[in-house]
Amino acid sequence: MRDPSPHAPDFAIRAEGLEKTYRGDRKTPPKRALKGIDLAIPRGSFFGLLGPNGAGKSTFINILGGLVVKSGGKASIWGYDIDADPRNARGAIGIVPQELNMDPFFSPWESLEMQAGFYGVPKAERRSEEILKAVGLWDKKDAYARTLSGGMKRRLLVAKALVHAPPVVVLDEPTAGVDVELRRQLWAYVKELHAQGTTIVLTTHYLEEAQELCDTIAIINHGEVIACEPTPQILSRLDRRTLVIAPQAELSALPAGLDGLDATLRKDGALAISYASSQTVESLLERVKAAGVSIKDLKTEEPDLEDVFVSMTSAPG
Ligand code: ADP
Ligand code: MG
Repeated sequence: MRDPSPHAPDFAIRAEGLEKTYRGDRKTPPKRALKGIDLAIPRGSFFGLLGPNGAGKSTFINILGGLVVKSGGKASIWGYDIDADPRNARGAIGIVPQELNMDPFFSPWESLEMQAGFYGVPKAERRSEEILKAVGLWDKKDAYARTLSGGMKRRLLVAKALVHAPPVVVLDEPTAGVDVELRRQLWAYVKELHAQGTTIVLTTHYLEEAQELCDTIAIINHGEVIACEPTPQILSRLDRRTLVIAPQAELSALPAGLDGLDATLRKDGALAISYASSQTVESLLERVKAAGVSIKDLKTEEPDLEDVFVSMTSAPG
């Protein structure tokens, strides 16, 4: 791997107070997409940026890639400030964009060679063949991009992000529209890059994807980082379910005797108890019965990621 900096930095990416407001026009009001993002992504990590649609993930990534101009704050890549040292900063990062936009008239081989030229990679150091083979596009090297399937285009975008051998690779929602088999191949390859020392940043709105791959997960919602922790810790915070009980007789208020439980009375009369999966439903039901509630019906609900984001945002501390 080509490392443009004399010393490997502690952090592959740092952002301090990063802000973005998209200017509106006559039809759309201005949009404050990032409200002061602080993030420090350690060198060598497999880092997940998790958040619902519209959270600001792509805005953050595109500022790093120089595609979106920030409104405030600071960011550096591999120790290079994106304002003071944009060439080195950009040279240290390879971004696989969310959108499948590519020039339809160039073959994968031509696309890679042009990209390498754009980054000033000398002919002798180019690795177009190696990269195309790695992403399984070698047999398509001379095909027009417009004749490639969605999955192939996605892999070509991955290949393009790698031509300058960046120490940091960012994948922005790379599995949207990618079938299971391709997804497996893509992850196998990304894991290998990571094992070789590349820092990987993955944005996704799928918790399962982040939880399987990432050692650290930051959760972003409405342009703010609301949590950034090692994956097991994040999971324990997200690992909550809800027991929903329909009582035989209508409850006028939350029954006494449920203290210590995260219980609410819903508008439809159901008693909802949020619990961690380390607690057993049986123990909850005993508490409910002891509180004098007879149960007509019950079900459990999986956590809705949106709801969890909201509760995390509004939770004190
Ligand atoms: P994510 O990638 O997490 O889905 P985005 O960064 O794409 O989120 O979007 C964050 C917010 O900024 C959204 O409300 C989105 O509608 C808005 N937004 C994104 N790009 C633009 C743009 N070019 N102009 C105006 N608003 C934008
Ligand atoms: Mg996005």
